Amino acid sequence: MKTTLSRLVALPACGLFMLFLLALALQVDAQTGGSDSLTLVHANLIDGISNAPLMDATVVVVNGHIQSIGHEAASGQSTVIDLKGHWLLPGFVDAHVHVADLAAARRALRSGATTVGEAGVNHFADIGMRELNHKGVVDVPDVVAAGYHIRTHPADDYFLDFPQDADLLGGVRGTDNVRRMVREMASRGVNRIKVMATERAGLPDTDPRIRIFNDDELAAIVDEANKAGLWTVAHAHGDEGAAAAVRAGVHCIEHGTYLSDDTLRLMKEKGVYLDPTVTATVDMTDPEGEYDDPVLQMRGRAMLPIARELVGRAWKMGIKIVAATDTTYFAKNNRTMADEIIELAGDGLPPMDAIKAGTSASAEELGVDKRTGSIRAGYEADFVIVGRNPLEDIRHIADVLMVVNNGRVALNRMNVAPRP
Ligand SMILES: [Zn+2]
Repeated sequence: MKTTLSRLVALPACGLFMLFLLALALQVDAQTGGSDSLTLVHANLIDGISNAPLMDATVVVVNGHIQSIGHEAASGQSTVIDLKGHWLLPGFVDAHVHVADLAAARRALRSGATTVGEAGVNHFADIGMRELNHKGVVDVPDVVAAGYHIRTHPADDYFLDFPQDADLLGGVRGTDNVRRMVREMASRGVNRIKVMATERAGLPDTDPRIRIFNDDELAAIVDEANKAGLWTVAHAHGDEGAAAAVRAGVHCIEHGTYLSDDTLRLMKEKGVYLDPTVTATVDMTDPEGEYDDPVLQMRGRAMLPIARELVGRAWKMGIKIVAATDTTYFAKNNRTMADEIIELAGDGLPPMDAIKAGTSASAEELGVDKRTGSIRAGYEADFVIVGRNPLEDIRHIADVLMVVNNGRVALNRMNVAPRP
């Protein structure tokens, strides 16, 4: 069936005939979801690694993995989707989220995030989602889990999971106690540890410039994580807390708003990533956004130019920058990975590098770059398809027409019916 849906819809037809066509289109769509082999033809391919796109490419997917990338015509039993010159990119890898339930996970996926790095969520919802994805449930993204943040006052819910830690209700201070909290996370099977090295920006009565843990505590957290084979990422806005976290050996600084050149140089030396989550700060300024509070709006307006300047400065210094939303993907969510990629491009990254920041670079930061984050033979078939060339105008990346997760179509609003 070569006809596109749009051409079908344009046919003069009675209502019944239209209904028949709709049913046919839905049936074909469902077949795509069940096929073990999928061939994408006439794709303009941005693979997440190369510096130039591959025009008019054919990508063959078998059993959820990319089998080949080339120019040959489709053959065999494969379901074929003709992308007609649309742009094929790796699925977005959102390096910092707080997705707490399956509804939010599905919204994340349908916005293009085929992999997410959780950075603090209650009751190990992240581990549950990760396991569902690994068991083949295709409407949730793959997850890199962190469990609860390590912080001086854990979330109340922490004590429901770990009543044996009731003595920490008064606060988690000292190397023994922070080590205990890291061990609790490791015992549940997290992939990484998230520590709060400064206070939060998203609460009216905290000051994100203020440092939290001391050097010994930070070193103990990283050491205990390493013993369990885990790495540590640090939430840090203020420079003092960020620098201390970098010295302690963390793998990535989340936010980093007030980073000095000295700290950036140290990050460069140690290969520490920067995840600036700028659109989270943009959102703070928005009265309609996730942070509905006048104090936070005032703070957001003060932080935003500083955060944007940081991205350009860090990029020029050669820091590895990754893209993330820092969102819960709540129902009225007004920021997605596309927004952060557009933001990074506006703050100084070339469009191709902004795309890499949200695909191959963030996959590397999350430790999943050997299987996703770029489009290569053998990798998971995680794709985002957009209509127009994002290298020409990065804003085109926001018009996500199709999402493919492990070889299955998770979103299709392309009006291009696949042919069996
Ligand atoms: Zn966060």
